[in-house]
Amino acid sequence: MFLADLPPWLLALLLAPFGLAFGSFANVLIHRLPMEDPAQRNVVTQPSHCPSCQARIRPWHNLPLVGWLILRGKCADCGWRIPGRYPLVELLGGLLFAASPWLFPFGTLIWFKGLVCGYALLVLFFTDLTEMILPDAIQFPLMALGILLTLPQLQWPEALVKVWLAPGHALQTLTFHNGLQPALLYRGFEPTVTWEQSLIGLAVGYGVPDLVNRLYKALRKTDGLGMGDFKMLAWLGAFWGWAPMLGILFLGAGLGAAVGVPLMLMRRSGGQTMLPFGCFLALATPIIVFFGRALWLGYLGVVS
Ligand SMILES: [Zn+2]
Repeated sequence: MFLADLPPWLLALLLAPFGLAFGSFANVLIHRLPMEDPAQRNVVTQPSHCPSCQARIRPWHNLPLVGWLILRGKCADCGWRIPGRYPLVELLGGLLFAASPWLFPFGTLIWFKGLVCGYALLVLFFTDLTEMILPDAIQFPLMALGILLTLPQLQWPEALVKVWLAPGHALQTLTFHNGLQPALLYRGFEPTVTWEQSLIGLAVGYGVPDLVNRLYKALRKTDGLGMGDFKMLAWLGAFWGWAPMLGILFLGAGLGAAVGVPLMLMRRSGGQTMLPFGCFLALATPIIVFFGRALWLGYLGVVS
């Protein structure tokens, strides 16, 4: 593969514009997917328009980052202040794509998986932050994709691809490797995520809370729990296996408590403060994907 032979910095330059464009599309997903009316949820054929005055956005104003700078953060038609979230999400999309050749070997399955996961977390972080919604339209396909990504390793367990670490340093790596990453610059891999671990991750993340919820609903005749967080855990479990998924859950809960408890004490609202838990799961995921094994071994070292 020719592109995989390029050094990471050159790949980063080539990938950054795609990242900015995908970041721009992430803004469309973040704005439209949480809408109640199915027609307004259309993210494919409906052209970009100002959420305030509905005016069509001119093509050059729609350019990632550049458009926002030209407009100085205001709608050209009605002067509506465009939230800083829009250029921020575009920038994060660009950074995610540009950083990806350093985080995962370019052109391998784990690179694709890491990129999809990072992009999905970017979208879900902001839908949860702004609307407290984690849309099914994203989460159900991710559950299926997580399982599908474990299948190529069954057919081609020994397929290799050459990737670059640094000038003059090439590395052979498994094309369909599917596991966690212990550290940056892929000096090595954790054991691969098998289809069994992936399925168990999906079942534990979604199946168990769903069962509890159905029982609860039948007994109490109420709506029960919000399932968005569990669906998120389910696809994270399908992507990274059941054990890292539990790590993400515990770290996410810890981060949530670290932010939530002081907030509750300040407001004295007595447990009524709603926190977007999906945001904390999104923040916990890269920590577990890159450092999960090291954290776990460190923890075992402390307790034993
Ligand atoms: Zn406007």
